[in-house]
Formats: sequence, C-alpha cells, structure tokens
Amino acid sequence: MLPAIRLISEAAELAARRHNGMARKGRGGEPHINHLAEVANLLATVTEGTDADLVAAGWLHDSIEDTETTREELANKFSERVAGLVVECTDDMSLPKPVRRQRQIEDAPHKSPGAKLIKTADKISNIGARIVPHPSKDERGDLADYAAWADKVVAGCRGINSRLDRIFDDTIERARTALAETGG
Ligand code: ZN
Repeated sequence: MLPAIRLISEAAELAARRHNGMARKGRGGEPHINHLAEVANLLATVTEGTDADLVAAGWLHDSIEDTETTREELANKFSERVAGLVVECTDDMSLPKPVRRQRQIEDAPHKSPGAKLIKTADKISNIGARIVPHPSKDERGDLADYAAWADKVVAGCRGINSRLDRIFDDTIERARTALAETGG
C-alpha cells in the first residue's frame, strides 16, 4: 500500500495525464484538471486530511467515465477502496443523459459514505463553475437546470459531513442569488 502522500501524488499525476487537453464545463473552458483539483481539495479540507483514499479518489473520480482508465488499473495501482469509490461515481455512458440523471438521483442514497462525499463535492464544483459574470440566457438556463438537478442528487448524499453539506447549501444560495440578479 502506498503511503498517503504518494497515493495522492500518484493519483493527481495520473489524472493530469489522462485528462490532458480536456476542458471542463462553464467558466471559460478551464482545464478539466482544475475541476479535479477542486474536488480533491474540498474532500481533503472537510475531512481534515484524514482520508487519503478519499482524496485520491477525488482526483480520479472522472477517470473511468471520461478516459480509458479501468477499475482493475485503479485497484492495482492504488487500492480496492479507491477503485470502488471511482466506480461508484461513474455513470453508464451508454444510457441517454436524462436516464443517467434520474439514476443519479435514485442511486445516491445507496452509495457508500465516501462516494456520497465525492458526489457532493463534484456538484459543488460544477455549480460553482456555472456561476459566471454577465451570463448569457443559455448560461442562466444551464445553471438553473444543473443546480436544481444537483440539489436532488445531493439530497440523497447528506448527513456524512456537515461542513461539506453547508458548502453545498452556500453554493446553491450563490446560484440563486446569481440567477435573481440576472433576472433568470
Ligand atoms: Zn467530476
């Protein structure tokens, strides 16, 4: 088993290589790795750095869904727990988006505590990236739609870490304020 600092360092490095050249949604097409760094850092912060597997899985949470990475590879390189957490955060991309979205809402309450934390941190990051200055009509619509759906997913993920729950609520509040200000 890798020591904590190596585990997280290896996870960040693999994520950077696998997601190289990918852009995230919102906020001027920032690199996707910025999203992964934000999620991993949120998880490290709210758990006071006590769970290295969780932070590593935060770096890797989109790797199976968006890149050629497999569960076996993550289990061999990191641990069964890291691989399992990433699998829990992986959508079946063969399904249409509305079905995937509905599944996330329905499956959330049955996830492990660690996966619930990753999913909540993911939604915090993705809502935050959609809060942009002077949004277009499409950007406002996308923020309103995403935040409403994320709120339903996170409803099934609450109660594990009160700090993370509070950050999510603050982020939803920021989205509401942004939408009200821009007349959305
Ligand atoms: Zn993500």
